[in-house]
Formats: sequence, C-alpha cells, structure tokens
Amino acid sequence: MPSLKEQVEAGCDLRVWCFRCNRGKKIAVLPQTVEKVITKLICGQCKSRDELLFLPAKTDFRPSKNPMEDLVAGMFHSFRSASKRRRRD
Ligand SMILES: [Zn+2]
Repeated sequence: MPSLKEQVEAGCDLRVWCFRCNRGKKIAVLPQTVEKVITKLICGQCKSRDELLFLPAKTDFRPSKNPMEDLVAGMFHSFRSASKRRRRD
C-alpha cells in the first residue's frame, strides 16, 4: 500500500473525512505540501483538527463500522431539538 504522499505524487487528490461532521471533502494538494496540509488542516465545518482522516480521493470512503450508532445518534438529536421546540411553544 503506497503512502498518501506517494499517491499524491502519482496525481491523486486528497480526501478529507471529518468524523465529527460525517462529511467528506476532496482537496487538491501538491506533493510537496501534503505533510503540511495534513498537520495544519482543520474541518471547514466544525473547525476540528483531531477528528480528520486523510485518504486518497479515489477511495470512496464511508465509515461503516457502526451505521446503527450514527442513525440512533441522529434520531436522538432530532428528538432533542423537537422537544426543545415544544417547550418553547
Ligand atoms: Zn467537521
């Protein structure tokens, strides 16, 4: 398995996945700046740096280790905001 830098050198873009937002984004980087980008980049959405995963963009990545957990968390948050709305009325 070639390193990320080697793959960028081979002409591949980089995909950044944020585990906090569950969002992926494709970014174009130069091989010389890969390491700098990886250490400096923050998520454009939540400004997190610790929960980012870097992959070659050709990999179609979807975290799937526990899709049920994501679903339940999503339901929990929507329930919570719905009950907040109810309390305000
Ligand atoms: Zn994020």
